[in-house]
Amino acid sequence: MAMETPREREIAAEDSIKVVCRFRPLNDSEEKAGSKFVVKFPAGNDENCISIGGKVYLFDKVFKPNATQDKVYNEAAKSIVTDVLAGYNGTIFAYGQTSSGKTHTMEGVIGDPNKQGIIPRIVNDIFNHIYGMEENLEFHIKVSYFEIYMDKIRDLLDVSKVNLSVHEDKNRVPFVKGATERFVSSPEEVFEVIEEGKSNRHIAVTNMNEHSSRSHSVFLINVKQENLENQKKLSGKLYLVDLAGSEKVSKTGAEGTVLDEAKNINKSLSALGNVISALADGNKTHIPYRDSKLTRILQESLGGNARTTIIICCSPASFNESETKSTLDFGKRAKTIKNVVCVNEELTAEEWKRRYEREKEKVARWKGKVDKLEAELSRWRQGETVKPEEQVSLVEAPDVTTPINVSVEGKLDDSPMPATPGGGLMIGSLSNEERQKLEEERERLYQQLDDKDEEINQQSQYVEKLKEQMDEQEELIASARRDYEQLQQEMNRIQQENESAKEEVKEVLQALEELAVNYDQKSQEVELKNKEQESMTEELLAKQVALNNTASELQQLRDMSAHQRKRIAEMLANFLKDLGEIGVAIGGESNENLKIAPPESNGKLEEEFTVARLFISKMKSEVKNLVQRCQGLESFQVDCNKKVSEYEKDLAESRLLISQHEARMQTLTESMKEADARKRALEEDVDALREECAKLKAAEQVQAVTNKEKAEEKEAATKMRVALEEQMDQLRDAHQKQVAALRDELSEKQELISELKDLNQKFTLAHQQMQADYERLKQEEANKSVKLQELVLLNERREQARKDLKGLEDTVAKELQTLHNLRKLFVQDLQTRIKKTISAEDNEDDGGSLAQKQKISFLENNLDQLTKVHKQLVRDNADLRCELPKLEKRLRATMERIKALETALRDAKEGAMRDRKRYQYEVDRIKEAVRQKNLARRGPSAQIAKPIRAGQHHLSNVNAIRTGNRGLFN
Ligand code: ADP
Ligand code: MG
Repeated sequence: MAMETPREREIAAEDSIKVVCRFRPLNDSEEKAGSKFVVKFPAGNDENCISIGGKVYLFDKVFKPNATQDKVYNEAAKSIVTDVLAGYNGTIFAYGQTSSGKTHTMEGVIGDPNKQGIIPRIVNDIFNHIYGMEENLEFHIKVSYFEIYMDKIRDLLDVSKVNLSVHEDKNRVPFVKGATERFVSSPEEVFEVIEEGKSNRHIAVTNMNEHSSRSHSVFLINVKQENLENQKKLSGKLYLVDLAGSEKVSKTGAEGTVLDEAKNINKSLSALGNVISALADGNKTHIPYRDSKLTRILQESLGGNARTTIIICCSPASFNESETKSTLDFGKRAKTIKNVVCVNEELTAEEWKRRYEREKEKVARWKGKVDKLEAELSRWRQGETVKPEEQVSLVEAPDVTTPINVSVEGKLDDSPMPATPGGGLMIGSLSNEERQKLEEERERLYQQLDDKDEEINQQSQYVEKLKEQMDEQEELIASARRDYEQLQQEMNRIQQENESAKEEVKEVLQALEELAVNYDQKSQEVELKNKEQESMTEELLAKQVALNNTASELQQLRDMSAHQRKRIAEMLANFLKDLGEIGVAIGGESNENLKIAPPESNGKLEEEFTVARLFISKMKSEVKNLVQRCQGLESFQVDCNKKVSEYEKDLAESRLLISQHEARMQTLTESMKEADARKRALEEDVDALREECAKLKAAEQVQAVTNKEKAEEKEAATKMRVALEEQMDQLRDAHQKQVAALRDELSEKQELISELKDLNQKFTLAHQQMQADYERLKQEEANKSVKLQELVLLNERREQARKDLKGLEDTVAKELQTLHNLRKLFVQDLQTRIKKTISAEDNEDDGGSLAQKQKISFLENNLDQLTKVHKQLVRDNADLRCELPKLEKRLRATMERIKALETALRDAKEGAMRDRKRYQYEVDRIKEAVRQKNLARRGPSAQIAKPIRAGQHHLSNVNAIRTGNRGLFN
């Protein structure tokens, strides 16, 4: 703002701050909580009245909850566009508790035609106005976007600027020093800037909602225009402020840093409230703008040169009633503030001249008036009374509408404006000089304050940068460390590989050494063998000599043995002859045997044969015996079978007998039973008769009693009795006889039974015995059959043996025959030899040749063995030779491997070195880049103006370059 223009306050006018009130609808949570709609909108056309809890508030405008964004914009903010384009300052800020709709009102949903708020609509409108204006106007629009959080100004377009300071320009108008300004030439660019700022706000904080409700966001649009025809320059600043929530701390239950934040918010908001109260009071000379950054920034908007609209946002819910009331009170107070607004115009030289003339005239007029007044005053002082007609009119002033002195430099410092902050009137008791001094002192102090602020900002920026650098460096270090570790690991790995390769090489060398040793051993062995071979050949020669000797000896011995045999044969022949003679003399057949013993019986074979023959004869006799026994056994078996059948027959008979006896026994027992029955019947008869007898005796007694009376009858009775007795005796005899007979019969039967029982017993015994016999016989038979089978087998075997024997005999005979033949041949040979030896003493060559042949064969054998050994050795040698190239190859391969590994190691080391160098270089480069960047950051960043020409759409920037050269305002 160094190029702030001196202002013309000629057209300055008092203007009240406009306060509009907007109520949002009940939100979901309020509806859920059952909050009531506590606000009433009294009927009327003005729509400027609301009542809450019986208290009525009047504002410039009241928007009901259903008011659209469009309506709010049109009725509360639209007029400010024309003001700004006409060179006035403007401010719109939204005040209210959190979630009362401030952001909704100011921003809304950018890009949504229905939901977008005041800022996007204003931006669009500004550009649309420009496009519709005269062509000779050129506009430069720049925007800034920053937020105030914890009384620090953070630039939202450059995150490194975290604590900007507020300075005053030469017109004592505060501005945020160092805030990024972006030149924009279209609404889209503005929206891009807003988006950027919002995203930076998001990056800087974790909880956006929390943060946004605790910080004030300020969007500044600076519009400068130049009339290309008359060089008239106008400028207007438009502050669009979304304030932090105005709720009380106690309500949110904030603590700690949150509480600090809340306190700060409340501090700045209460500073705002204090400023507004002070301004509303009207009598206060000091307005505490400097209590907070917010009020400093809004200094011109509150009681200064700005058209200001405050939108107070409220919730209609009963839950928020107290906040709503305090918000409404704030608005009510703000409504009383009066601003003095004037156009910010940069005057041309001619204009200045004109004004100078005008001011000169004014001064002359004032001077005239002062002269007149002085004359009048002197008249009064002289005790004259001046007639009212002669009095100078005090009301009439040369120029009432220009209360401000415009100095040539445009300085307003001395202007005695009661409402302006910079130059407030002190209490009248102070002298002008003192006042001046105090003013100066204050000015100096403010300047110092600003300087300190600036310093703080710079320092904090520096700190921020340093922090960033630190972070970068730390990151670099970390990555370097990581790289280093990786390299170290790589090195370790390579070293390990190298170690293992070395180990391998060692092993291979060892193996090779072993092989060489082996080879040496083998060659030594070969030498040894060769030596052995030589010694063997020597030995062989010696042996051959010995052999020759022995052969000659053998020949001698043979000769001797032949001679002796001859003699023995002769002796034997003689002996046999003698024996034959003895045999003849004895006259036995045994000479046959002796005859067999011919002169050859001197051999062992003969003896063996005889033994064999003896054996054979023995076996023959044995076989014969066995056959006989077999036959005997067979006949015995037949006998046994016969016997068995006989026994079986007997057994059947005795069984029959037994059954007969049993039948008889049954009949006898039955007859016994019958006899018993008869005996019982007879006994019963006897009993009956006895009874009768007793009865009769009784009757007899009775009759004896009555005998006298019946004498006659007695006789008859005696007679009868006699008869009866006779009868009785007869009967008794018969009975007795019968009983005796029966008893006899009984005893007979008893005897018969016992006899039969005995018989039965005997039979059963016999039966049992026979059964046992039968079993035994069966057993025997089984045994016999087993034996028989065995014998049959044995027989078969004997047969086989016999056959074998026969075959043996045959072979033996054949062999004997061959032996005989051989013997014959031998004898013949001997004889021929003997003959030869006898006939030709010279013919010893034959024997020599045989011996030589034998010798040769022996030697050949030896030679064979030796050649075998030699061959074996040669083969071994060849094998070793075959293996040698392989081993050499292996050795070479391992050597190559070692070399490759060594080169790889060297390469890796070199690579590591290179990497390290590269890394160092990279680090240096990055450091350099960082340094450059820092330098660049510190250095001034050139901004390219994007001028916009009125009457043209922003896309056609044909004139842009031309007008761009004209530069910015000064
Ligand atoms: P503040 O910025 O004051 O904290 P917001 O503007 O973020 O509050 O509003 C809070 C919520 O209420 C948002 O979801 C917003 O869409 C909604 N809201 C605010 N005012 C209105 C309105 N007039 N009409 C509809 N919804 C609204
Ligand atoms: Mg908000």
